[in-house]
Amino acid sequence: MKLISSDKRAGVGANMEVSLPRRRMLAGVALSAAAVSVAASAKAASFGNPDSPPEGRINGRSPTSVDNPGPQNPALAGQFPSFQDPPATDVNGMPIFWASFNNAHKRIQDGGWAREVTQADFAISSDIAGVNMRLSRNGIRELHWHQQAEWAIMVDGRCRVTALDEQGRPQVADVQTGDLWYIPAGLPHSLQGLGATGAEFVLAFDNGRATEFNTLMLTDWIAHTPPDVLALNFGVPAEAFANIPLEQRWIFQGEDPGPLAADQQAVKAGRGAPPHPFVFSLSRKAPDRQTRGGFVQIADSSNFNASTTIAAALVTVRPGGMRELHWHPHADEWQYYIKGAARMTVFDTGPRAQTADFRPGDVGYVKKSLGHYVENTGSTDLVFLELFKSARYAEVSLSDWLTHVPPQLVMEHLNIDRETLARFSRTRPDIVPV
Ligand code: MN
Ligand code: MN
Repeated sequence: MKLISSDKRAGVGANMEVSLPRRRMLAGVALSAAAVSVAASAKAASFGNPDSPPEGRINGRSPTSVDNPGPQNPALAGQFPSFQDPPATDVNGMPIFWASFNNAHKRIQDGGWAREVTQADFAISSDIAGVNMRLSRNGIRELHWHQQAEWAIMVDGRCRVTALDEQGRPQVADVQTGDLWYIPAGLPHSLQGLGATGAEFVLAFDNGRATEFNTLMLTDWIAHTPPDVLALNFGVPAEAFANIPLEQRWIFQGEDPGPLAADQQAVKAGRGAPPHPFVFSLSRKAPDRQTRGGFVQIADSSNFNASTTIAAALVTVRPGGMRELHWHPHADEWQYYIKGAARMTVFDTGPRAQTADFRPGDVGYVKKSLGHYVENTGSTDLVFLELFKSARYAEVSLSDWLTHVPPQLVMEHLNIDRETLARFSRTRPDIVPV
């Protein structure tokens, strides 16, 4: 009896090894010839529980119970093998936890573009709304603020970020691929693409209903304030505002902002700088955990002190590796897939279990405390981001739990022997193999 790899499990190839339903074997019941023949005729079987309830292709014995003669879009369907052909251990249904920037509408202007995945389109995503933005060389996301905090990761190029805190302490910083920024709720800021190629980044607002297309913008406010009020407010003649834009700029093409040091000098305030930098180099920090299967880099308020409402983990999974079975006791998880190919299965009460496939630009979401794992299904490194609306990163590892309760208890639950349990990782590896 051999454990069938998860890759093969989804593949349902005719050459798959036949193995027997585990609970029958454990019950010590002699298998009838009929039972063996059913398993063999299905040409696949696996450990787990593929026949109670009998879901999945393995249980569809007639070819017409598993084919798909109606209308199809193969290019799209082909991206979702786990939806087309779920593993037999998937059971019942659950709200979709897959979304993507790849099929999100772009708002394009001279200077860049943005597209978003918010709770309006992705119902499960109550804690976090995601935005993918491009700023051209010198392209500017205009001076603005909003009611939500903004966390971001650079995915290409370089960007200059400006911000002011509520005590009037300014910051200007340049970020590059793999760097983060965090702007607390309500604080004003701006972004500008730098260098020959500008910038691309992903923003996360700490509220699923937030939207990039509903922010408080400098140009909107100025255009909707009477000139005499502007004159009184700034102490200049009303005519000084004769040329203000009458429509919001949002994103527009700017000029080269020049050296960072000059901008930092220009914004200096008597109140000094904020106590904590609002930028952080996540991709260049040492891994918090590293195994043969990959590594994890964490940024939360314990090291990225400014980031008080978002905790992040950048996860790299080697080919053949897996983000281990685990859950997060404190917050929902919002995922952004950066490189490679992945398959995630989520477990909920019921039982319910569902599997989905992810590629670069896709977004995943797991409700607080629901069990999940993420497999690298490709031949290259899988890189993805886990975000939590929380000051601190936290998780519970299944293997860590099962190796830190009395062994007898685990053996009685799972009908496994002591030698097997002794081989379980006791170190909370995060990524397997250890
Ligand atoms: Mn913003
Ligand atoms: Mn997780």
